[in-house]
Amino acid sequence: MAGIRKDYVGGRFSIVAKPGPRVTDPKNSPFAPGRESKTNPSVLSLVSRDGMLQRLEDADGQVVKNWLVRVFESSTPAVTLDPGTLYGDMPHYSEPAYGYHYVVVASPNPASTLTTLTLEEWSNAMVVVQDRLRWLYTKRGVTYVAVYANQGEEAGSRNPHSHLNIMTLSTIPPVVDAEIVSHHRTLDRLGVCPICSMVEAEAGGPREILKTEGFVAFTPWAPSHQHEFWICPMRHATSFAMATQKDINDLALMLRSTLGGLSKSCGSPAYSLAFHLSPEKRNTKQLHWHIEVYPVTQAQSALERGYGVFVSGTSPEDAAAVLGAAARREMARLVGIE
Ligand SMILES: [Zn+2]
Ligand SMILES: [Zn+2]
Repeated sequence: MAGIRKDYVGGRFSIVAKPGPRVTDPKNSPFAPGRESKTNPSVLSLVSRDGMLQRLEDADGQVVKNWLVRVFESSTPAVTLDPGTLYGDMPHYSEPAYGYHYVVVASPNPASTLTTLTLEEWSNAMVVVQDRLRWLYTKRGVTYVAVYANQGEEAGSRNPHSHLNIMTLSTIPPVVDAEIVSHHRTLDRLGVCPICSMVEAEAGGPREILKTEGFVAFTPWAPSHQHEFWICPMRHATSFAMATQKDINDLALMLRSTLGGLSKSCGSPAYSLAFHLSPEKRNTKQLHWHIEVYPVTQAQSALERGYGVFVSGTSPEDAAAVLGAAARREMARLVGIE
């Protein structure tokens, strides 16, 4: 294990980890029902019994069948519970890549993708993410839990079968840390949450894509990717783990409508999805949580790679018009009012 390395001068982290096996045909997905032995045993399998959702796990070689969502340790983890003791000081800072890395398979259907998941499947996957978040934040050595997903090979996905990743870190990752620092600076100076201000500024404006009862989706003012969009709770909320079932159902509708809209209006691009959540430990600084979606529609240039200055071929206002129309059509179809 190479450990987690930190850059000489910047806050950049780097982990060396083997990629998972590449699956090109969903029929061969190791995540599919009947192939449970090809993955690690499940630590959580969501099963429907008599109309109730039960939380079970594989034990003593007994595999839980007929699952709706299945969570297991990644077979090619970026962090592990047994990473060795590789510590190093600057300029070659390193620490053991200690942590938990789970795969959450969001549907038993190997042909399902994040774009085609049903509302119920999205909602069940989110309930399972909440369950794991609560459990992981009780564990030693867990400072941050990253929840993320990739759709399509260009976005780094090795298996098209719909799944999310949950990975823990012993440090708050740099992008989230920068958001938390700026969040608290604004709170201290102006007494307002910058994400609440952002929601107020973007809801109903030229960059809004879709609004539900509790969430708003919009293209950000200064995007890092073409057609990038964010999904934000309308009301101030710092704990994803504490979101109610009603919030989760609402979020499922939002995710499914916007991702479906993105796919239909932009030629099914690959995309990545990052949950920017608070570190849910006692006495840690908090963040009004949100989800950021980065479509992969154009190659990055030296300006982006070398300077962190992003160039987008489409303005966020034009992107919102296209995404908004498609996402609204998608939502109308999903709730059956088309
Ligand atoms: Zn807020
Ligand atoms: Zn963010």
